[in-house]
Amino acid sequence: MEPMTEQQVRRSFVNCSKGEAGAATLPRDLADLPWDELEVLGWRDPKAPLRGYLVVQREHGPVGIALRAAESRMSARRSVMCLLCRSTHPGDAVSLFTARRAGAAGRNGDTVGTYVCADLGCATRARTEIPPWLRDRDPVEVGEERVAELRGRVAEFVDAVLR
Ligand SMILES: [Zn+2]
Repeated sequence: MEPMTEQQVRRSFVNCSKGEAGAATLPRDLADLPWDELEVLGWRDPKAPLRGYLVVQREHGPVGIALRAAESRMSARRSVMCLLCRSTHPGDAVSLFTARRAGAAGRNGDTVGTYVCADLGCATRARTEIPPWLRDRDPVEVGEERVAELRGRVAEFVDAVLR
């Protein structure tokens, strides 16, 4: 991604009010983030525990999605896969996140949901956490494939919010 300023991040949100976008707690160190290694910027709001955010670069500029995590957690004894980066975790490290759809659909209460790493740290994980069944392959190549797949899945999710 291209580096973004606080104002650009706040302006990118497509599925929440200006007030909500203004109240979001952004990552503290925006200027120091490894932007070239981020297919998607994802974080949880430290001041609003169920809130999270994903921001991606699209053809016409950045698009930010405000998310809400389900209050109930899955059991840590279950193994659950993040549907964006396909990393597998104990169930309590994956959350069901819902996003209000953009525009009139969202105002009418329409949402889309998916299971994602609870910390929304998929971009880093796609590069660094190679699943055991891929470990006999070239790690750089596998990392690139995982990143490309992550980009595709995030794009589908963003499309569903914007549709
Ligand atoms: Zn993930």
